[in-house]
Amino acid sequence: MKKYVWMNKINDQLTEISKKIQKKYFPELLPLPATINTRLHQTQARIRIPGLHKNPKIEFRLSVYKSRPLSDIKEIFKHEYIHYQLYKDGKPYGHSREFAKLAHKLRLKECYQFEAKYIQTCTCGRSHWTNKRKELWDKCICGKKMKLRRRKL
Ligand SMILES: [Zn+2]
Ligand SMILES: [Zn+2]
Repeated sequence: MKKYVWMNKINDQLTEISKKIQKKYFPELLPLPATINTRLHQTQARIRIPGLHKNPKIEFRLSVYKSRPLSDIKEIFKHEYIHYQLYKDGKPYGHSREFAKLAHKLRLKECYQFEAKYIQTCTCGRSHWTNKRKELWDKCICGKKMKLRRRKL
């Protein structure tokens, strides 16, 4: 099969999943198309948010699509739509505390943490992970200081 043919098939499949997740968990938001981005290396996926970026969509790394079960892919969509929901609500839309709260509410299973550069853990059981130093938390939601671990990716 030519490259664009199988890519289109994957993109259609991903867009289907994207619409389902939006409908189920984020009824206030617009459903976004999803595509494979072969140049995505830093993250597993990323969202181009309507009103913030041109060409709104959710992009996936090909290896993620190939190696992860559907349940993980759904969680990754949930994660990306949380960024969008927070942006729409005028809240800090990075991996902020608001992100963690909404993620908790939606029972997000974190499938990104395996690739995070920074992992902070707390004795209360919470963890926070990010690839950006500026997104590190000064303390846990419970108020305690967190332990920081840095990984080589
Ligand atoms: Zn994210
Ligand atoms: Zn804590």
